Amino acid sequence: MKIIVIGGGLSGLAASVFLSEKGFKVTLIEASPKLGGRAYTLSEPESNLEFDNGQHLLMGCYRSTLRFLKIIGAESEIIFLPLKVPFVRPNYGISYLRAVDEFYPLNLIDAIMNFEAVSWKSRARILALMMKIRNEKNERESNVNVFRWLKDNNQTDEAIENFWQVLCVGALNSDPEKASASIFKNVIKRIFFSGAEGYKFILPRKNLRTMYIDKSKNFIISKGGYVNLSERVLEFRIEGGIINKIVTDNNLYDDFEMVVSALPAHALKKIKFSGTQLKSVPSFEYSPILNVHLILEDNPFTERYYALLGTDYHWLFNHGKYISITASSAEKLIKKNNAELLSELYSNLELFFPIFNRKLVRSSRIIKEKRATFVPAGDRLLNNTGYFTDIKNLFVGGDWTIPELPATIESAVLSAEKVSREIFNISRVSD
Ligand SMILES: Cc1cc2nc3c(=O)[nH]c(=O)nc-3n(C[C@H](O)[C@H](O)[C@H](O)COP(=O)(O)OP(=O)(O)OC[C@H]3O[C@@H](n4cnc5c(N)ncnc54)[C@H](O)[C@@H]3O)c2cc1C
Repeated sequence: MKIIVIGGGLSGLAASVFLSEKGFKVTLIEASPKLGGRAYTLSEPESNLEFDNGQHLLMGCYRSTLRFLKIIGAESEIIFLPLKVPFVRPNYGISYLRAVDEFYPLNLIDAIMNFEAVSWKSRARILALMMKIRNEKNERESNVNVFRWLKDNNQTDEAIENFWQVLCVGALNSDPEKASASIFKNVIKRIFFSGAEGYKFILPRKNLRTMYIDKSKNFIISKGGYVNLSERVLEFRIEGGIINKIVTDNNLYDDFEMVVSALPAHALKKIKFSGTQLKSVPSFEYSPILNVHLILEDNPFTERYYALLGTDYHWLFNHGKYISITASSAEKLIKKNNAELLSELYSNLELFFPIFNRKLVRSSRIIKEKRATFVPAGDRLLNNTGYFTDIKNLFVGGDWTIPELPATIESAVLSAEKVSREIFNISRVSD
């Protein structure tokens, strides 16, 4: 059976891999000249380095992603790290959130009770709320935002600022005042209460290209599929409730049975549907991420990463020759020009890390992703039904199609897994 997959980001590549593995003949169509969508690698000829557009952090609870990486043979391209997060505050130094590997889930109590970035009182309240989340059922709940919910659950200001805020901005790329408490709770549950591996950090050993992009492409081609770049899908021609022609900016496809859309919602809405209409594709507010890569003459940092408290720059990842600083939910920062940004960032780094001096920086690369992720606000839960079309041979994936999760690698791959399973089941029935 022939399948067209539209979009060469994580969800399109993963869907193509899952389907190719099951013996379907896949043609993947990607508008841009490169694969990876919002998770890609670019090279910097000057320094002979390759950078990811933003540091991508996977979690041990990313089960679909780990299955996908296994299929393409990328298990050795990732590193699992135990929970040991250095939180840095100027004048206070480093406080670790650290869990030993044994005695799960009791080790989490130990991790929180020894988290010195907040007082004993705040630690006890964080722990109490964690236990509550663990015991609660997942609900598809209304418009309560994370901040309101934390306040309603007796969290102190310092617990919100030095603990919950870091989790919320890091995992949801959204401020607690905007993000849905319900989605946040789902994420916390998956990370901390889905097994002893769930909270482990996973980093690409080298970069996203070597982790999944090249390997996915090779896998699809090795199974007889095609990967067509620089080709934009413009129109679906629909007859009798099915798509029978796909028009792109340089081709017309009519030899296929099924179509997978692995596009962001805004891109799917731009495609012309001749003969019928899309149902309810939600409209999202998007949240930017800023990444600054600093190539260093000499690297004074000793940890692999740091969480920075009380600043708009949230994480520092240490890659040896260079460091990457990530600012999530970076609406204000991306409006600044590069000189302004760098000067402000250097001042922050010098304040947080007395070992750092701006003279150590040889060169820099700033990447502003304006539509990095959608804001997982409460109304999204209510409006995103997961039912976008009644066209029988169109299956819709992408990170926005899993109502209970934020925009992540895992939601993109999980959506691909779901779509592929649906297609597989339908094809078995019709055999
Ligand atoms: C800077 C940054 C940091 C991030 N960090 C993390 C992280 O640490 N952990 C995490 O889990 N997630 C992270 N994310 C989120 C994650 O990258 C995304 O959720 C995921 O990559 C989305 O994949 P997708 O396939 O659903 O969509 P996309 O990656 O947007 O892919 C869609 C593809 O469709 C193509 N396309 C669009 N229109 C057409 C058309 N008409 N015809 C053909 N092709 C078309 C696009 O070019 C694109 O390649 C981050 C995102 C960014 C931007």
